[in-house]
Amino acid sequence: MRLTEVHFEQGPIRPPSEAYSLLLRMTRNCPWNRCEFCHTYKGQKFSVRSVEEVKRDIDSVQEIVSEVKALSWQRGFGGEITPSLVNLILQHPQHYPDGFRSVILWLYTGEKNVFLQDGNNLVLKTDDLVEILRYLKETFPSIERITSYARAKTVSKKTVEELQDLFRAGLSRIHIGLETGYDPLLQYMKKGVTAQEHVDAGRKVKASGISLSEYVILGLGGRRMWREHAIETAKVLNQIDPDFIRVRTLKLLKTMPLYEKIEKREFTLLTDDEVVGEERLLIENLEGINSTFVSDHILNLLEEVEGKFPQEKGKMLARIDCYLALSSEDKANFRLGRRAGVYRSVDDLSNPALKGQVEDAIRRIDLEQPGGLEKVLSDLMESFI
Ligand code: SF4
Repeated sequence: MRLTEVHFEQGPIRPPSEAYSLLLRMTRNCPWNRCEFCHTYKGQKFSVRSVEEVKRDIDSVQEIVSEVKALSWQRGFGGEITPSLVNLILQHPQHYPDGFRSVILWLYTGEKNVFLQDGNNLVLKTDDLVEILRYLKETFPSIERITSYARAKTVSKKTVEELQDLFRAGLSRIHIGLETGYDPLLQYMKKGVTAQEHVDAGRKVKASGISLSEYVILGLGGRRMWREHAIETAKVLNQIDPDFIRVRTLKLLKTMPLYEKIEKREFTLLTDDEVVGEERLLIENLEGINSTFVSDHILNLLEEVEGKFPQEKGKMLARIDCYLALSSEDKANFRLGRRAGVYRSVDDLSNPALKGQVEDAIRRIDLEQPGGLEKVLSDLMESFI
């Protein structure tokens, strides 16, 4: 039996690091919505939700929390959020609507983190966002981290004082899609921001005390601009010194405007090996920073290339070299095993059982569709988006 009809609104995406965060929607879709490589909000109109509307959603979350805790008592769990209670709710979506499932995971992981959706909440008036942040923290004093996506262009127009107000009200981290630091590529991809605006925005966020994640798209330069993409992106990051540099690999879908450029042979995608080479060049050129490099997107081939600058730069380059030194058979084996979820790291290739499992899969692919490995890899990657 469904316990409640209480509802709160959630948007389509969140960063991988916010997997267990409570998702609250401040705005709908993206006010820019023109980037060539992005399909998330295409065809969707941007709108701002009112402060009252968002506060009502926060009240709804509180109501669901009370109902989940009451359910815990009824089921004999003493008000605790136990794995059995989580399973009960997750396994019966017909009885528990989306909000319940999202709240139970949030409660189970300690009610600590909140991610504000959608694409660019810094377009809200600073005072409105401050009011929402304060209300959220008053309602749930357990919250430790509140994060949001924002466009660099929008952030660059805020003053450091405004960002400090947001920080004091509880905004702890901003996720910015840098994508690239190479101006011609920013223009080509219609990102609507310059490298200098990225630097200005990033420095302001850092000066305000808010933690900063900058996202880079590996492979975005394609065959024509990969080298400049890596070098110029590193230059921008060196000037910002963000808390986190997060990479994700470009995967094209037909719903992305960039797809047409590929069809017209105007843009050529990099191979996996070329993307790894580009990542190497990016890391090589990162200097004088204290950022943590994170590879937390399932599309990335080398999840293991992670670490803290400057001390772990050598270790990260060594992990990349370890992959690049593999034979072509082992590279193919690793690429399939990694995308199929068999391997986490290149070192897993030394496990004969795992390697044999992937060899069998490659033999089956060759029998069923000779030369079909690239298609299988592409389909696997598409399933991650
Ligand atoms: S700004 Fe972000 S959300 Fe908006 S279109 Fe570009 S990548 Fe997509």
